Amino acid sequence: MAAKIIDGKQIAADMRAKLKAEVAALAKKGIVPGLGVILVGDDPASHSYVTAKQKACSEIGIYSADNRLPASASQKELIALIGKMNKDPKIHGILVQLPLPKHIDEQEVLLSIDPAKDIDGFHPVNVGKMVQGQKIFLPCTPHGIIQLLIHSGVKIEGTNVVIVGRSNIVGKPLANILMQKSPLGNATVTVCHTKTKNIAEHTKRADIVIAAAGSVNTITADMIKAGAVVIDVGVNRVDDPSKKAGYRLVGDVDFERVKEKASLITPVPGGVGPMTITMLLYNVVDAARQSSPK
Ligand code: NAP
Repeated sequence: MAAKIIDGKQIAADMRAKLKAEVAALAKKGIVPGLGVILVGDDPASHSYVTAKQKACSEIGIYSADNRLPASASQKELIALIGKMNKDPKIHGILVQLPLPKHIDEQEVLLSIDPAKDIDGFHPVNVGKMVQGQKIFLPCTPHGIIQLLIHSGVKIEGTNVVIVGRSNIVGKPLANILMQKSPLGNATVTVCHTKTKNIAEHTKRADIVIAAAGSVNTITADMIKAGAVVIDVGVNRVDDPSKKAGYRLVGDVDFERVKEKASLITPVPGGVGPMTITMLLYNVVDAARQSSPK
């Protein structure tokens, strides 16, 4: 039987509607959640990501402060701007859109964000706390994936999860959250990468397979067991002359064949993607809530 498709757009819309109601409740206490956005340079993809994030903020009533710096901006200038936002009570979360121009040390910039306003969850202090299982703002894409599973009725506890990909923004934090002794975790997690000898040997045993490799057809139907849950994080462009843009977006999973074997599967686009921004909104609202007098 073909898999049920996990509708990331719908789950994201439901979560955003709840967040909108929370923002309205905070407004009654005089608190408007605020996101400080910094974009350096003219990268078109970064521009469109920032625009999408700000639009999502305004739709649910989050204030967003837009700061655009030229590509020539110095690291000192950027860190000074972050310093101002760290002190600004109207700003509850700070988002520095990555990647930054080559002359700027990304790590130094991320270190300058107050961990209490690090709504991306990338600050080493927050990464350390996450590893220890302390409460922090969870990184958006991993948290979005876990919320997709929960909202689709998947019981994570006790499952064997195999993640393909070990990046700092997806694979590693996701593995960490899923292995924690917590309602979002309690899974047994295996992480595969380009040096894994036989990926299929691992994925075939998995109850949940999560592909975050950034490579087309990393997961094929012969690599999963019947009834597995398959989450596709990958976003890849493939040539498609029938499209106006000349390409279309596909994930890391051979969707058409894998869906005939899996029990649940995310599409690309429309699966994980809409959840990433939603969890960013979630973290900003959470940060504002924490600033609220009890
Ligand atoms: P990344 O930094 O390039 O990391 C990719 C990881 O996958 C690396 O650990 C790499 O292994 C591993 N890998 C690559 N090809 C592989 C293969 N054929 N077999 C096994 N492992 C392989 O990528 P990322 O930032 O984590 O992103 C991964 C994908 O998710 C990309 O397509 C990205 O666009 C997408 N993404 C989507 C969202 C969203 O919101 N939808 C958010 C973030 C990322 P090594 O470590 O050995 O090199």
